[in-house]
Amino acid sequence: MLNRRGFIIGALALGGCAPSVITSPAKRIAVTIDDFNLGFNIRLNPRERNERILAAFDKHNHKAAGFVTGRYVDNVFGDEVVQSWSDAGHLIGNHTYTHLNSSDEPAELIETDIIKNDALLSKYPAYRKFFRFPFLAEGGSLDKIATYRAFLKQQGFQNAAVTVDTVDWYITGRMEKRLKRDDMADLEPYRDYYVEAVVTLADHFQNLAEQIGMPNLPHSMLMHHNVLNGLFLDDVLQALKDNGWSMVDAKEAFAHPLYKLQPETPTRSRSLLSVLAQEKGITDTGYPKAYYGWGKKSMDALGL
Ligand SMILES: [Zn+2]
Repeated sequence: MLNRRGFIIGALALGGCAPSVITSPAKRIAVTIDDFNLGFNIRLNPRERNERILAAFDKHNHKAAGFVTGRYVDNVFGDEVVQSWSDAGHLIGNHTYTHLNSSDEPAELIETDIIKNDALLSKYPAYRKFFRFPFLAEGGSLDKIATYRAFLKQQGFQNAAVTVDTVDWYITGRMEKRLKRDDMADLEPYRDYYVEAVVTLADHFQNLAEQIGMPNLPHSMLMHHNVLNGLFLDDVLQALKDNGWSMVDAKEAFAHPLYKLQPETPTRSRSLLSVLAQEKGITDTGYPKAYYGWGKKSMDALGL
């Protein structure tokens, strides 16, 4: 900001008719990693996977956020993994203990599950009261959404909304199926597909942010602790940088006022930006066509 202002003043001082300064939006993004399901063990074991994810963040000088589902880490190895995130200075957030769908289950059940997870995660120094709904299901009906909002507020939680959804869970599901059939399968086509998907989707949601008048919004990108990211997170972060993105620490991103907005339109497991864009009368708020149905047709066509 200061530099930019300094440059404008300098330019004006130099000539009487300075050209208008066109500033492109700052494309800034934070990685958030959900679930911490550490079960899959082919090609990379979960310890190697975790080490590679943390190494990718270090390499790109990024402090991310991990939204932890308690039942996956409520054991000796899980504790080691969450502790490694806390030690590395990544934000730890709450993703319920059991990972139930908040829209389908009674609110009291989900609230108990959030409290149970809070008790488990409170021992980690990097734990903060940020909450992410499993499946991004904020409650379904407006009544239930209001119930959860009141509960989270009373408990001191901020809803850690997603602005960029990467469909990594779908891509890893298909890749894991392949690996179960052939653990030596060539994974380069999966890497290329995933990298392109993330860059395309990040730009898509940046476009929505610009359309609703928030061009400099720090994005919160949804990914998961899975083998896909163990293998390719570094490639993804590099590709984002190569496409004009810079990393913003997750804690800093969530301090942006956008993440305090509580739209009256049900989220229905979508990016907060899709919901806000819909409220502004923008009709084309869904995924780019290649990612309809999570990208099933695209992956089918590529034999992935
Ligand atoms: Zn989840």
